[in-house]
Amino acid sequence: MSDTPLFDASVSFLRRALDARKISSVELASVFLDRIATLEPKLNAFVTVDRERALADAKAADARIAKGEAGPLTGIPLAHKDVFCTEGVLTSCGSKMLANFVSPYDAHVVTLLKDAGVVCLGKTNMDEFAMGSSTETSHFGSTHNPWKPGHVPGGSSGGSAAAVAARLAPIATGTDTGGSIRQPASFCNVTGIKPTYGLVSRYGLIAYASSLDQGGAFGGSAEDCALLLGAMTGFDKRDSTSLDRAPENYAAALAAPPADAAKPLAGLTVGLPREFFAAGMSDDIRVAVDAALAQYRALGATTREVDLPNAKLAIPAYYVIAMAEASSNLSRFDGVRYGHRAAHYDDLFDMYCKSRGEGFGDEVKRRILVGTYVLSHGYYDAYYLQAQKLRRLIAEDFRRAFAECDLIAGPTSPVTAWALGAMSGDPVQMYLADIYTTPVNLAGLPGLSHPCGFDRAGLPVGLQLIGNYFSEAKLLEAAHRFQQATDWHLRRPALAA
Ligand code: GLN
Repeated sequence: MSDTPLFDASVSFLRRALDARKISSVELASVFLDRIATLEPKLNAFVTVDRERALADAKAADARIAKGEAGPLTGIPLAHKDVFCTEGVLTSCGSKMLANFVSPYDAHVVTLLKDAGVVCLGKTNMDEFAMGSSTETSHFGSTHNPWKPGHVPGGSSGGSAAAVAARLAPIATGTDTGGSIRQPASFCNVTGIKPTYGLVSRYGLIAYASSLDQGGAFGGSAEDCALLLGAMTGFDKRDSTSLDRAPENYAAALAAPPADAAKPLAGLTVGLPREFFAAGMSDDIRVAVDAALAQYRALGATTREVDLPNAKLAIPAYYVIAMAEASSNLSRFDGVRYGHRAAHYDDLFDMYCKSRGEGFGDEVKRRILVGTYVLSHGYYDAYYLQAQKLRRLIAEDFRRAFAECDLIAGPTSPVTAWALGAMSGDPVQMYLADIYTTPVNLAGLPGLSHPCGFDRAGLPVGLQLIGNYFSEAKLLEAAHRFQQATDWHLRRPALAA
């Protein structure tokens, strides 16, 4: 085997090392746990690291490997975003409200991955209740971008993205309501995929905006994402929006050799939305994205312009719908059944008010207030209903675009990672940075972000690929072919150990 350090290796490399008994799962888990111990004080990517539990998982995985019963992920370490309920482990959702919540059950995704034999290293930091684009709203403090301490990792799944970028974990789960997998993936130079709405069960995923929330995968490459996503999907009757479809083997699809090795993407038409390439994107991002598109053409793909005329309305539509659903979903945190309860109160109503007042941070409160307002009598038609109509128009735009192309490509974010605090005083400015990711969630489509270059300050740039419903294999394959021909995804931040 090559001299790649183990923490830097791909999942398939680790699989071969485990199967060939070059290393045990316990040893592998220790490599990552030791790395976490060294680098975590600088990054704050985790809310919880559970060494004992991880080593126990690894021991069980070793026994399974010894019996010849290993699956693709048996013995592979992973980190879960702290939005997924994990039995017996703190599940904080980045909030003071749940800072004492040890979940009594596992999310469906967690169960599937346990069954696959993964080793859970811990739970990653995130914006409070997944509301944010920077991981700065976490009750547990901001995560730092491994590429530039003092800069945000993106969000809300910033902890997972930073953990994979710093190689504190080879793969990690995330959730994406309006970009929370793709945008931090782009800020941290990792690959992240949000699948078609309904492909990954939301059971045990603490709800932000239920019609938009979707679990997905982070990895060092499209190949690693394919392995993780493949293990996360599957029908679950406990989620009423879970889709009953036969699971796909995404990794096997990537392994198949292309018909034309020199032009592996021959026949693929990539649509470039005029609206995504209009003003607003920084020059450095445009240069990196244009170069990536040239690479796609060199690999045989054809590019053509397409129109998404209503995409510019995605931000108002998304923030009305997301906040409306959040205001309803977060009403369950009342200090009665679980979560934070105020120490002093006069009566039941006062207890609700004080518990919620103390337990939620400012951004969450802002969203509950706006969400309650847009759903209120007299305003519902003006805001919520209008937003739902826009949502339909945006989905129609994509439907029309996909009649002309197989995939859509563009920047993941109009900006690269900003300095901590730079946008905190202006929430609307931060919302506007979600312009390229939110239309995808509104339409329920799958989207992927992969590394495609750096800006002048050395901060990563991501390319977003959007596919039609259930085109995850196509998205992953396109990104994989790009990664076979380029090395952006192999660049690592200089992290002094
Ligand atoms: N930044 C968006 C928001 O704040 C998206 C968050 C997410 O996808 N969870 O709502």
